Amino acid sequence: MPPAAALPAALPDALRGAVRGEVLVPGAPGYDDARAVWNAAVDRRPAVVVRCAGSEDVRAAVRIARERGLPLGVRGGGHSAAGWAVPEGGLMIDLSRMGGVDVDPGAGTARVQGGALLGSLDAAAQPYGLATTAGIVSHTGIGGLALGGGVGWLARLLGTTCDNATGYEVVTADGGLVHASAEEHPDLFWALRGGGGNFGVVTRFDLRLHDVGTRALVAEVDLDAATGLGPLRDWLATAEVAPRRATPLAEVRAGGPLTLGFVWVGEPDDAAPWVARLDALGTPLARRVTALPYLELQRQSDVGAAHGFRRYMKSHYLRELPDAALEAFLAHAEAEVGAASLLACGGAIADVDPGATAFTHRDARFEYDTGARWEDASDDERHVASCRRLAATMEPWSVGAYVNAMGDEGAAGVHRAYGAATFARLRAVKGAWDPGNVFHLNQNVPPA
Ligand SMILES: Cc1cc2nc3c(=O)[nH]c(=O)nc-3n(C[C@H](O)[C@H](O)[C@H](O)COP(=O)(O)OP(=O)(O)OC[C@H]3O[C@@H](n4cnc5c(N)ncnc54)[C@H](O)[C@@H]3O)c2cc1C
Repeated sequence: MPPAAALPAALPDALRGAVRGEVLVPGAPGYDDARAVWNAAVDRRPAVVVRCAGSEDVRAAVRIARERGLPLGVRGGGHSAAGWAVPEGGLMIDLSRMGGVDVDPGAGTARVQGGALLGSLDAAAQPYGLATTAGIVSHTGIGGLALGGGVGWLARLLGTTCDNATGYEVVTADGGLVHASAEEHPDLFWALRGGGGNFGVVTRFDLRLHDVGTRALVAEVDLDAATGLGPLRDWLATAEVAPRRATPLAEVRAGGPLTLGFVWVGEPDDAAPWVARLDALGTPLARRVTALPYLELQRQSDVGAAHGFRRYMKSHYLRELPDAALEAFLAHAEAEVGAASLLACGGAIADVDPGATAFTHRDARFEYDTGARWEDASDDERHVASCRRLAATMEPWSVGAYVNAMGDEGAAGVHRAYGAATFARLRAVKGAWDPGNVFHLNQNVPPA
């Protein structure tokens, strides 16, 4: 028997000796908060949570997880519907203490720590009238959002979040620390722009900011879904000609009306011609036109998208929307549960060369999403089945899916998100940077 000193230290002790941040084990204060993610249906118990205080902590945690053969999960904002951040019986790297954002208004840049939430980025940039594309709910993590692409109200104007990333500080699978940019490790830089958490733990994102001002406008009309085909067709045609500051959208809810409208980032008065076009669609059941600060726009969905509910979602990218597709969308109003939306893409998203980033499907004209939320586990099957049924009705027009809007759809889902060419290229980069698939709790790209 070897002397006690030669035995490996117990896992929590080894970690406490190696990191500055907190090490949480089951039963410890904070452990249950750390393992609770946005989707309350996710209930996994890591062996240990490391609440990292900086890049060196992340390096130590990756190294120790590897040495011990532990599944490794990385938590940014905890929003992935599949709950990828939480490894059952594994080591969870919790980046919530690494939430700093440093804006340089003169240079128009932001240095964003890997665990920052979108709200922190907007709050730091907006005092200067600056912003970059981020999602539409302020408690989403920049980490998962930017690594999968990142779309929001500025995407048609400025491209995706990853189109605005100029560099990444990354802890790699071997515990190294590298910087990836167009000049340094360009293969990794390409893969990090859309390829998800497959390639390492990003401890800092360098983002380009833009002068977008501080004002916005939301315009919506509710119409009877039963007679909504003509207005829906007309409104979606508007997306072809709408300025890039406008993001046209359509929404339908089980038992509810058809909502048509757009979000505008910029001076509200400049949106007047497009409000007039919305008003020309017909006499609405309700009409809402609201000028608001950009910061408020970015928070307006926070409550509806709150943590703590059970969730399920599915998504498609669409290029063509013939009447049969629009009828399938409108029929969602007759479903028992759930809601769905069509969000205009195009604009600056489509300007970027498809080979320039791992983010795919730049030629999609609309993103379709459907989802449901509920509280009781006994309702799981009803809600999941309903969402799947609704998404299946749109499947004939699907050309792929947004990787960040998927749950766990397995290898076929990941393939659908990237398409054959990007998937093959991602596998090659994965083989170079993470041949052992240490980072596998994500929309996983197996190493080539
Ligand atoms: C309410 C809500 C609103 C949303 N709105 C939008 C939207 O407007 N636009 C949009 O594009 N998407 C949106 N999404 C989707 C969102 O982009 C994804 O769920 C994304 O994965 C969330 O990232 P996260 O860091 O919050 O999640 P997490 O669950 O913490 O992480 C998701 C994945 O990314 C990995 N990851 C996270 N941070 C890092 C990091 N720093 N380094 C390496 N890997 C990391 C994790 O390991 C995991 O695999 C929304 C999701 C929700 C739930």
